[in-house]
Amino acid sequence: MRMRNRERTVLPGLILVLGLLVLASGCSTLWKTFKREPRPEPTPEARKPRKLENIRVSLLKQAKRVKVSSFRPVKIYNMQNKKLIGKKRLGEDNLILIRDGRILFDGQFLPATRLRLVPEKDEYLTVNGKRYRGQMDISVDAEHGGLLVANYLPLELYLQGVVPKEVPADWQAEVLKVQAVAARTFALYKMSGRAKYAYDLDASVNSQVYGGLDSEKKTTNEAVAATRGRVMMYQDKFVAAFYHSNCGGATANVRNVWGGKLDYLGGVSCGFCEEGPHYSWERTLSREELTTRLQKKNSRLGRVKRIEPGARDHTGRLRTVKITHSLGQEEMSAAAFRMLVGPDKIRSTKFFVENQRAAIQFKGKGWGHGVGLCQEGARGMARSGFTYRDILRHYYPGAELRRVY
Ligand SMILES: [Zn+2]
Repeated sequence: MRMRNRERTVLPGLILVLGLLVLASGCSTLWKTFKREPRPEPTPEARKPRKLENIRVSLLKQAKRVKVSSFRPVKIYNMQNKKLIGKKRLGEDNLILIRDGRILFDGQFLPATRLRLVPEKDEYLTVNGKRYRGQMDISVDAEHGGLLVANYLPLELYLQGVVPKEVPADWQAEVLKVQAVAARTFALYKMSGRAKYAYDLDASVNSQVYGGLDSEKKTTNEAVAATRGRVMMYQDKFVAAFYHSNCGGATANVRNVWGGKLDYLGGVSCGFCEEGPHYSWERTLSREELTTRLQKKNSRLGRVKRIEPGARDHTGRLRTVKITHSLGQEEMSAAAFRMLVGPDKIRSTKFFVENQRAAIQFKGKGWGHGVGLCQEGARGMARSGFTYRDILRHYYPGAELRRVY
């Protein structure tokens, strides 16, 4: 979910609720201990790719040094004038450094602040010990300082490094196809309007987790190939294909989570994720810990005494929570409360509270923001014999599956 994308394209749809909610982060990787949820963004203008596109995925930001190596010679281009600077094999100890706002490589300052490293066909580059397909853009980030490293590669090869990081590769083939289509659609949705920026998406939970060549698995590569070029569209626009681990019984209406209105993100009943490993959760937190975390954003908040649920939406997700503290009472949005306390601790906003003597206990359903595709529900549907098309239609109602290249 990408997160630094600040442009606001024309969007009769998603009106963002800013403030704390925009820090919202997502929990779509099941076996990870912590994952932030993506920030929602305006629906991009209709833009249908007719051929396979390249994507730029930022791997490192504000880096002082980057270790890049290659097995065979690599062409190095100055991207300011698109001219070849040279060709060489990058050894194990090859460092690209930034010094005085200039790129220092092999002991020499290069006459460029934007480089592209192009390996030979079917070769790969290793960046800080991890292997990546495609090419590598290395540029001086004049705004934030340091070096920005972005992997430049065909969208389909990028997806090969995303799907296995977002769902376990041993899940049913139909679920892997669902994830491939969702990730492809999400990437295209995020890429619109990014041309003037140095990259399109982050490799982290801010967008979708991307692990490069080392993370690829045979089953997930097959799912990407089987769905090549297929995306979800709604009224000629890419669907904002959000996804999360487990909805806890029904997916959320995007309006109640981030605000705005998107018909295909209005929420659906799920009923397929009850067997999922993250269907329910429980957490007991001390009043001290809650106080410390909540005071981060509100220094006028006293010591936490009681937490009580406020209003709920029709899916049972809390809209607000009431906090009784030593200096008074405060009501805040449940989503903001979750992010402040930690989305790994309060896994969803669908929870009950028990104020015990020694601590406060939270018992809830689901993991993640609850918007869009429920990954564990998709797994349940696949087990029941539904195809990836059925599953996508269920979680993004009204959207159509189309092949764009
Ligand atoms: Zn579900």
